[in-house]
Amino acid sequence: MTFRRTRCPHCRGKLEAGQRIHPACIDGYAEAQAAKAERAEAKKARAAAKVERAETRRRKEAIKTVPALIREAQQAFNAWVRARDAAQPCISCGAPPPDLSGLHAGRDAGHYRSTGSASHLRFHPDNCHAQCVHCNQWGAGKAVDYRIRLLVRIGLARVEALESDNRTHKWAHDELRGIRDHYRAALRLLVKSSCSA
Ligand SMILES: [Zn+2]
Ligand SMILES: [Zn+2]
Repeated sequence: MTFRRTRCPHCRGKLEAGQRIHPACIDGYAEAQAAKAERAEAKKARAAAKVERAETRRRKEAIKTVPALIREAQQAFNAWVRARDAAQPCISCGAPPPDLSGLHAGRDAGHYRSTGSASHLRFHPDNCHAQCVHCNQWGAGKAVDYRIRLLVRIGLARVEALESDNRTHKWAHDELRGIRDHYRAALRLLVKSSCSA
């Protein structure tokens, strides 16, 4: 049995016996086929570009140094601290938050024990609180005032735990990636809940 086409592949209309396509449909059909092939080609190219970008991202991520990853993790952590403390006064001077609607409005995430002298506490949520830029940068963190409000906020036991914690810690690449990704996600959650509130 031989296959016999009964419908035109282009317009789907009925064919005469022995016809494979309406002569008037040949050009249109060829054009449509070419356009289809072109679309398939473009789709393939987009997929390849996507794979390429992912590969570039992966390579870039793989060669990041510990200091670079510390910077990224610190940025993510500090942004989370500012959002967490959006409604809290400055930890040093008690000035009210400048703008309750802006999660990053003009404040720093200030460390109680500095990242320079206590690097192992640089991502400790108890050790970092929203602070006026001025208090953070021009008052050496206003450590005495900081401690007074820190006591109120987290209690003596946790303040003393921070003060007596003198471990040394060597940050590792994947540990830092984990911290960075954790606080990026935590910030997104905070922003989402504050928007829907
Ligand atoms: Zn036709
Ligand atoms: Zn202040």
